[in-house]
Amino acid sequence: MQTGGAARIDRVETLIVDIPTIRAHHLSMHTMRSQTLVLVRVFCSDGTVGVGEGTTIGGLSYGEESPEGIKLTIDTYIAPLLIGADASRVAALMDGVRHAVKGNRFARCAVETALLDALGHRLGLPVSELLGGRRRDALEVAWTLASGDTAQDIEEAEAMLAARRHRIFKLKIGKREVGADVKHVAAIKAALGDRASVRVDVNMAWSEHQARRGIAALEAAGVDLVEQPVSRDHPRALTRLTQRFDVAIMADESLQGPGEAMELARTRAAGVFALKIAQSGGLFDAQRVAAIADAAGIELYGGTMLEGGVGTAAAAQLCAALPALAWGTELFGPLLLVEEILATPLTYRDFALVVPATPGIGVVLDMDRVDFFRRDRPAPRLVPVARQTAGA
Ligand SMILES: [Mg+2]
Repeated sequence: MQTGGAARIDRVETLIVDIPTIRAHHLSMHTMRSQTLVLVRVFCSDGTVGVGEGTTIGGLSYGEESPEGIKLTIDTYIAPLLIGADASRVAALMDGVRHAVKGNRFARCAVETALLDALGHRLGLPVSELLGGRRRDALEVAWTLASGDTAQDIEEAEAMLAARRHRIFKLKIGKREVGADVKHVAAIKAALGDRASVRVDVNMAWSEHQARRGIAALEAAGVDLVEQPVSRDHPRALTRLTQRFDVAIMADESLQGPGEAMELARTRAAGVFALKIAQSGGLFDAQRVAAIADAAGIELYGGTMLEGGVGTAAAAQLCAALPALAWGTELFGPLLLVEEILATPLTYRDFALVVPATPGIGVVLDMDRVDFFRRDRPAPRLVPVARQTAGA
């Protein structure tokens, strides 16, 4: 910590950027063709600047927070709590934020990330060190096959295997009839065989009865993991499915912070938790979720909200510090975007994401690119023809 006067928080800035995706990304509740990121910058009196990201999927179709709402919550309710405060007291500051702002986990996560990033820069340490110390420098990364077309998905998977970029594939299903989805997944698993792990994410689309049919067939087809087959409104159904099948069942939408983690552990509702920093309410709360999983013998997977480079780097810092990460991660969000907004892109190689080792979360925004994609970019100024010709 500083000895000569604390670093104070001078200013908190938020902006929304919209970046197209490389292809349509079909989920049971929404089809993405672009991703919207809310970026937060916290400016401190010692010159450090921390960045954070609050990103969700499909406006309000995935969760309760929208990009516009995240920005409004930070600007109107969180920033005033931070201005003038000691920037290094991140945990205490976030306690205050949690007291004053209920829910709004994505907004809180974005701010906490920015504060931890600034603290890391102040101390010269990666955020993984602030979270107890890193245990791994690279994280296996799954890829999501979500074109909806079987042949195209197989072709995409083969290209990823050949490039040594991914060997875990997650298929987004639940939009079509159960039988059609199972046929699609089974064909992909049959084509890839033992060269890849094939997993599915139903994003809550099935009833319990549909899930019983679907999971039995997927298990027989060699699928390794079934993510959130039923609604988060039916926690007992998730428990019954977990007890019924050998294939691993993962809680994602059902898991929104330590309180729900505790309940899912108590009711043995899942064998695996999708650990997400934003869903958890921040990096500290994600660590609490991980501790509950560890104590309950539940395995972990580093999940994504399809964040860009900032949110992905923050999640990577957390995942690097976890005691165990049996199912790897899906921290591929930046690879889904057509444009890079980091000065130096994250490194993906040998089926893994290299965890940045520089101070803070380890990434720097390219502000020219951010400015280009920001939603409120001023329209280009047109010089009136009359003025152009005046005096000519
Ligand atoms: Mg999911």
